[in-house]
Amino acid sequence: MSPTWLSDMSDTDLKHIIDSLELIFFDVDGVLALTTVPIPGAGECVLKLRELNKNIGIVTNNTFSTQKELSTRLAHCGVKEEEISTPNYALLAYLKSINFSKDVYLIGSVLLRDMLTNAGYNVIVSEDIRKEPIGENFTDIVQVITDTLSICKNVGAVVLCFAINFNSQAAQVAATILNHIPDVMLLSGATDDTAPLSAKHFVVFPKYYVDGIERWTNRKCTPMAKPSDALKDLLFSKYNITDPSKVLFVGDSVTSDIAFGRSCQFKTLLVLSGTMKKDHILKGSLPEEQTPDFIASSLGELYQRLKNY
Ligand SMILES: [Mg+2]
Repeated sequence: MSPTWLSDMSDTDLKHIIDSLELIFFDVDGVLALTTVPIPGAGECVLKLRELNKNIGIVTNNTFSTQKELSTRLAHCGVKEEEISTPNYALLAYLKSINFSKDVYLIGSVLLRDMLTNAGYNVIVSEDIRKEPIGENFTDIVQVITDTLSICKNVGAVVLCFAINFNSQAAQVAATILNHIPDVMLLSGATDDTAPLSAKHFVVFPKYYVDGIERWTNRKCTPMAKPSDALKDLLFSKYNITDPSKVLFVGDSVTSDIAFGRSCQFKTLLVLSGTMKKDHILKGSLPEEQTPDFIASSLGELYQRLKNY
């Protein structure tokens, strides 16, 4: 299957597709906004789709902004807090679904720690093992391992996610738990390599330490972020989805958004206003599971086609 470019689509075909949709999910960064800057035409496009009676959902791998912060950032799209779904919510729903009741060791945001704590879980972070920096000698490192095995003896899940203040002690503790405490699950939130920040800058994301912890423990994370089954389960339940062909997923990343949309059997639209550029598409063919149904330069292009509906 090769994608259809919006620019090659007739008005009749486009109308047929839009008419067939009940629910449209949007990624945030690179689709609706780049950090705090709205992407031109994105807000108008979302508002137009609302006017056409489409249900709207926001599905982002951002694990450190609250729903309130995100809805403020997305005011140009009229986004309400309850329309936002993130891997943090997928994690809470997953833990609830398996009646999880043990302690959680977390490498992640303060927001995720608070959400887990508010849900009733005892959350342990690296600073609970040792607040002061580890001395640069083997005795001190061995002491951290000993303390980990004592303080973390009731841990049942290690959760790895975006943590801007990550340090190697946090990874040392995670590896110690996973290698020496029995029956501990390994779960992950955001695991991307980088995230776009502006035209010139990117944020270093957790892939480097998630890869390391998997390698040192010979384990694989069960993911909670796009493209994961946990997030899929959350959305199907939250929106009561019975016919995925009436759902469109709009994203700028083929590996997270398009792969996720396809795994859910949604229709998929790739926009080239974020991670992927036209050159990337033209240069090589995408794997089948990452190939979108449709491609547009941005939501601004879609808005131009829809505005007179
Ligand atoms: Mg994105």
